[in-house]
Amino acid sequence: MSDRGLRVVWVYPDLLSTYGDQGNALVVERRAQQRGLAVQRTDVRSDEQVPTSADIYLIGGGEDRPQRLAAERLLRDGGLQRAVDNGAIIFSVCAGYQILGREFVNDLGEPQKGLGLLDVVSTRGEAERCVGDVLGDVDERLGLPQLTGFENHQGITHIGSGARPLARVRLGKGNGTGDGTEGAWNDTVFGTYMHGPVLARNPQIADMLIKLALDVNALPPVDDQWYEALRKERIAAALQPA
Ligand code: GLN
Repeated sequence: MSDRGLRVVWVYPDLLSTYGDQGNALVVERRAQQRGLAVQRTDVRSDEQVPTSADIYLIGGGEDRPQRLAAERLLRDGGLQRAVDNGAIIFSVCAGYQILGREFVNDLGEPQKGLGLLDVVSTRGEAERCVGDVLGDVDERLGLPQLTGFENHQGITHIGSGARPLARVRLGKGNGTGDGTEGAWNDTVFGTYMHGPVLARNPQIADMLIKLALDVNALPPVDDQWYEALRKERIAAALQPA
């Protein structure tokens, strides 16, 4: 963290912001401010260079063509890769998650190189698009409550030996491979298929990102009653028979 506070970068809002992804940036900002931290947030458009020395980077979901363009530009830019080398924390959603992987299938039906920051490969699912509520039990090493979210994707994602599933789905398709996994993570890079926006529905993930960025084990508690009420409501709605 610099003297000017926690540096948060929202990557490519002009291409990857289909599902209210700004909400994720707002939640990280707010949760840090509630702990008395100054926050310096930068929204980096796709015609700008990605800064390499921020603390937390957020990269969102998008449609297939913008996803191809975003991946091309990020690969050329190289800023995210350098940021990871500098110890940054990255949180990605859906198209952003696929872009951080080693490869995905683009809107032209061709395999396209990803940034290789997460050991996953995405292909195009042949089955119906994965759309609907998601409930997931998170990898216990992360110490997070049950996740709730919403997914909408055609791609399916296979996790390699260099990454671990973020969660196991109780409801929903997650990575879509049929093995019950959802999302992936290594020590500093996280990916999920959940929109929501996911951090508004699961603010403990935002806290986890802040803790990792600050290299601390705990943050002062904040009032989470509203979030917990939302979580209960979403779990009950998701489990209701159709
Ligand atoms: N284009 C990707 C897919 O359908 C990602 C979509 C998204 O971000 N919702 O798999």
